Amino acid sequence: MIMNIEELSEFARKKGFFWTSSEIYGGFTGFYDYGVNGTLLKRKFEHIWRKYFLNLNDNFYEIEPSDIMPEKVFIASGHITNFVDPVAKCRKCGTQHRADHILEDFLKRNFEGITAEELTKLIKDNRIVCPKCKGELADVKPLVMMFPLAVGAEGDIKAYLRPETAQGAYVNFLRHFNILRSKLPLGLAVIGKAYRNEISPRNLTTRMREFTQAELQIFFDPNKLDEHERWNEVKNYKVILYPVSQRGKKTITLSCEEVVKKLKLPKFYVWHLAKVQQFYLEILKIPETKFRFKELSEDERAFYNKIHWDIELELESLGGFKEVGGVHYRGDYDLSGHEKISKESHKIFFDNKKFIAHVLELSFGVDRNIYALIELFYRKEKDRAVLGLPANLAPFQLAVFPLVNKGNLDKLAKDVYETLKKDFDAVYDDSGSIGKRYYREDERGTFFAITVDYDTLKTDDVTVRFRDTTKQIRVKIKELNKTLMQLVSSN
Ligand SMILES: [Zn+2]
Repeated sequence: MIMNIEELSEFARKKGFFWTSSEIYGGFTGFYDYGVNGTLLKRKFEHIWRKYFLNLNDNFYEIEPSDIMPEKVFIASGHITNFVDPVAKCRKCGTQHRADHILEDFLKRNFEGITAEELTKLIKDNRIVCPKCKGELADVKPLVMMFPLAVGAEGDIKAYLRPETAQGAYVNFLRHFNILRSKLPLGLAVIGKAYRNEISPRNLTTRMREFTQAELQIFFDPNKLDEHERWNEVKNYKVILYPVSQRGKKTITLSCEEVVKKLKLPKFYVWHLAKVQQFYLEILKIPETKFRFKELSEDERAFYNKIHWDIELELESLGGFKEVGGVHYRGDYDLSGHEKISKESHKIFFDNKKFIAHVLELSFGVDRNIYALIELFYRKEKDRAVLGLPANLAPFQLAVFPLVNKGNLDKLAKDVYETLKKDFDAVYDDSGSIGKRYYREDERGTFFAITVDYDTLKTDDVTVRFRDTTKQIRVKIKELNKTLMQLVSSN
C-alpha cells in the first residue's frame, strides 16, 4: 500500500500514470496529463463504468453534449449565483486562499458549505493568518468558480466551460424523452471533462481545475419514488452506511429492506445505492472495509438535493475516507430551472399524468477513482512492488519476453506477441534480465508475463507467469489465446 501522497505522486510520475501538465514549463497547477499507463487505466475504468451502469436499465443511454454552454444554462442551473468559493485574500502578499481549506488545515474540521460571514468570523476568532507569509487576511468573499469564455469574433457571446457534465443531460432531456418513445425511467449518461477554477487545487488528481466525470442522470416519475420493479434483487443485500447519526462512531451495515424501514429512504434511491456498492465491491474488487456511503447533513448538502450520500473510499494517503462520487436525489430542481429560463415547458405526459420528471444523479469523479485504484491496489513485497489491479483494469494484460535475444527466440516471441496483440493490451520487452522485466511489469499491473525460452523451440509451449502469485504454467502456443481469454475473464 502507498502510505503517503509524495510516494504516490512519485510512483504515478515515474511509472507513466500522471503528472502535472505542461511539465517542461514548470507545471501548470491544477492540471494533469495522463501518461501511457494512466490513460489505459482510465479508459478501462470508463469502459467498465459504461458497461455496468448503462446495463442497469434498457432505457439508459450515453450521450455526448458540448463542453461549452451559453450563460443562460448556468443561470437556470443556479451556478451563476451559487457556484462560488469562499476566498480570503492576504493583505500582505496578495495570495487568494480558500477560506474553508485554511480553516480545515488549522482546526482539523470540515468547513465546506459555511457562509462567507461565518468563515470571516472563524478566521478572526482563531487569529488565522496567511499560511504563506503570516500576513493578515481580508474578509472572505465569494468567487464564481466557472471558467468564463468570450465566444465569437467580437467575443460578445457569454459562455462557460461546464463545471459538471450534468447540465448537458438536462438540456437534452425533452428531445430524448421523445426520441426514446416517452418512457420513464430514462437515463442519460455523460463521461467527459468538467472545469472548475479551484482556488487551491491540491491532493494531486483528487482536486483539479480540469477533470473527468462519469455521471448518470436518471429521470423518473416522482409517484414511483417508493418502488423499483427489480426491488427483489437487492432487498436482502447489505449496504455499508455512515449516516449522520453515526458521526464519530462506526459505519453500520443494513439490508436494503432495513434501510427503507429504519432510515426512511425511498426504494428507488436505495436500489441504486445497492447497485453502486456492487460496482465497487464486485466489479472493481475494492475491499469492503475501504468502502462506505456517507450521508450528508442538511447544511453540508446543496439545497436542491433532497437526499445526498457520498460514495467514499478510505485512502490513507489523504488521511482517511474521501469522496469519490455521490448519489443525489435532486427532485425537479434541474428541469424546473431550465423550464423557467428557456421558457419551454418541461412537463411531460406519462402514465396519464402531467408532471416534471424528477432526477436521481449517480455521479463519479473518474480521476479520483483512478487515484484510489492506484493507492488501494499498490503493494510492496519483499523483493518487488505490485499494482494488483483486476485483469480488466490493468493497463496491460500481458507482456511477452524472449528469454534471450538470440537463437531465434526473439523472432518466435515477436510472432507470439503479434498474435496476442490483436485480442489483448500487450507489450513486448527484450531488454534487461528476465527478473528485471518481471519487476517492471508487476509494478504497472501487467497481469501475465509470457516467456519464450529454449524449450519453446522443441515443445511449442511457453511459460505463463501470474502477476499476483508469480506461479508459472506451460501453455501450448496454439492454445494461448483461448487460455488467456478465460483467465482474464475470471480475474
Ligand atoms: Zn500572505
